[in-house]
Amino acid sequence: MTTKQAPSTLQKMGLDSPMALALHLPSRYENETELLTIEEAIARGRFASAQTQGIVIRNKVLFRPRRQMVVTIEDETETLNLRFLNFYPSQQKQMAVGVHVRVRGEVRDGFQGSEMVHPTVRAVAPDAPLPNSLTPVYPASVGVSQTVIRKAVTQALRDPSLQESLAEFLPKKLMAELLPSNDWPSLQSAITYLHQPPADANTQSLLERTHPAWRRVQFEELLAQQISLKRAHAIRRERNAPSFAKAQDEGKNTTKEQSFEEGLLRVLPFKLTNAQDRVWSEISKDLSKSFPMNRLLQGDVGSGKTVVAALAAARVMDHGYQAAIMAPTEILAEQHYLKMKEWFETLGVKIAWLSGSLKAKEKRLAQEVIENGQAQLIIGTHALIQENVSFAKLGLAVIDEQHRFGVRQRLEIQQRVGSELFYCHQLMMSATPIPRTLAMTYYADLDVSVIDELPPGRKPIATKVVKAGRRDEVIGGLQSWLSKGLQAYWVCPLIEESEALQLQTATESFEQLTQALPDFKVGLVHGRLKAEEKAAVMAAFKANEIQLLVATTVIEVGVDVPNAALMVIEHAERFGYAQIHQLRGRVGRGSADSVCILMYAEPLSMAAKERLQTLRETSDGFVIAERDLSLRGPGELLGAKQSGDAMLRFVDLQRDAWLIELAQQAADRLLAEHADLVERHLERWLGSRAEFLKA
Ligand code: ADP
Ligand code: MG
Repeated sequence: MTTKQAPSTLQKMGLDSPMALALHLPSRYENETELLTIEEAIARGRFASAQTQGIVIRNKVLFRPRRQMVVTIEDETETLNLRFLNFYPSQQKQMAVGVHVRVRGEVRDGFQGSEMVHPTVRAVAPDAPLPNSLTPVYPASVGVSQTVIRKAVTQALRDPSLQESLAEFLPKKLMAELLPSNDWPSLQSAITYLHQPPADANTQSLLERTHPAWRRVQFEELLAQQISLKRAHAIRRERNAPSFAKAQDEGKNTTKEQSFEEGLLRVLPFKLTNAQDRVWSEISKDLSKSFPMNRLLQGDVGSGKTVVAALAAARVMDHGYQAAIMAPTEILAEQHYLKMKEWFETLGVKIAWLSGSLKAKEKRLAQEVIENGQAQLIIGTHALIQENVSFAKLGLAVIDEQHRFGVRQRLEIQQRVGSELFYCHQLMMSATPIPRTLAMTYYADLDVSVIDELPPGRKPIATKVVKAGRRDEVIGGLQSWLSKGLQAYWVCPLIEESEALQLQTATESFEQLTQALPDFKVGLVHGRLKAEEKAAVMAAFKANEIQLLVATTVIEVGVDVPNAALMVIEHAERFGYAQIHQLRGRVGRGSADSVCILMYAEPLSMAAKERLQTLRETSDGFVIAERDLSLRGPGELLGAKQSGDAMLRFVDLQRDAWLIELAQQAADRLLAEHADLVERHLERWLGSRAEFLKA
């Protein structure tokens, strides 16, 4: 019965082929190759596991302080208690008096002498043989035992098809040139070694994944990734996209008095910063090429990415093509819509708005003008790709806060914005800097432009960390702040488990603050509000009809109210690095000195303490992103979490940075000199996951 169930559970874990099982590598090992006497096991102490054996001389079920089973075993040297806080009747039988058992666990000083708590126990003869390799412990999911996985892996390693799948094909000469001091085993022996390391293996380097066997596997994995990224890069260059050179360069400017591009520069109430100028010329160059741009515009919160996107849109519209701007949230998309209206409407640009919350009729109308080409600039949420939208002549897609879209969504965007005839240019924007290692791996086919300068007149934000116990003091400070004619945000925490609870705490804060600050108008905005309601509150805040805005994290990105220069964040300990950085970026946009108060409730975990401290000390988005990466891993940073597929399974981008460069070189050489091997390598490593690398 169990053997019938096991394969399906394994299949659910994706372990459905000998190759998949071979690549399901252990997360750690247990050493069952060594057998100690009880005396020696006791001497080893409580911090290292030990294996010993003996005859059961006592087996008692106690009821105090709680129900538990205590079994005593004995050998010629000592006695040892085994304590089980949960146990089955079958275990009582397994450890009946007189049975000889082999046990493994850590020995500690118990109340009644030395003991192991919940050891692994097997009833075996005293002379039962010991394994001669370390016992692998595999990443498992609920409902699959180690025994089942071990058995399946052992079987897979013997499968004849695996010889073929793991065959060596990296040219020796190439490897010797790239890595002269190469002590790596072949792939096949590396994999076998990792599943069944000999008793004397260097377990430290196995655990830390720095062992040559690990290096070999990591290198192969990175190589596959580098190859597919380079290929994506080459494929993109082969594709056609309309080329949009600057209008007067081509003498196209005859039908219009002035291009949208020039018009926009004229109506802007400010001059571009040097950094904005620079990135715009990089983008402008891309747009003039006849293959699609794939560029990330990176700039810290408030650095002024929007206007650069607007310039790109203007260029495209000058050539009679449409431009679309897509943002991950309704509020953010709306802000873009309002901004674009402000800049472009006087120039006669037809702007369309599309979001999921539009009424059916409005939606149909928007779709119509997008489809017949009347709309030149289209702004919206991912409704732009979800709804049945077809663009008359899309030349540019701008995707704001691109990391907030999942991998699947990004793929969909790419598939939707292209057509068979031509691909549109793509500009992604993000305030989250991509650390170098990440840029070299996941984003190798992405050109990056960086705005590394804030518009003039920005004041640094002073960040304070304050205990929740001083809430009244904070409210007092808020009072005098608002009295100066300034505005403020009060941010309530995200409560992931319960939206209802989140709303409740926000409402409570709102009521408390309304009472405490009778001279001012307090507003409340949260995720449950309808789009129009949200927009109305935001508009009132922008117009200073509301002085204090109580909000859940819906204001996380993009909101722009320069007169609001104070932000209080409640339960700041519950937020991640990126969230606080984004939130804090809402202030410091006007001429007033800006303050961000991070209120925290005790007890504070070490991680939260460090996080708040870092956030107080720096507002450098790059430093914060690096910290974030080391904490969370790239999956979350990339928004790949929901895809469930970690693309690099064995590589740690920080630990193994040097391997990335090596893999990059090897990928170049393989593509140039051994194109025939490339396909096989990709298939081996990526299989169905290859798609994801293109997103
Ligand atoms: P982000 O990069 O975070 O998206 P925005 O594009 O929203 O930043 O710009 C933040 C604010 O700075 C906006 O109010 C915008 O109008 C203003 N801004 C942008 N560029 C400049 C500039 N060169 N000089 C002055 N203000 C600018
Ligand atoms: Mg923005």
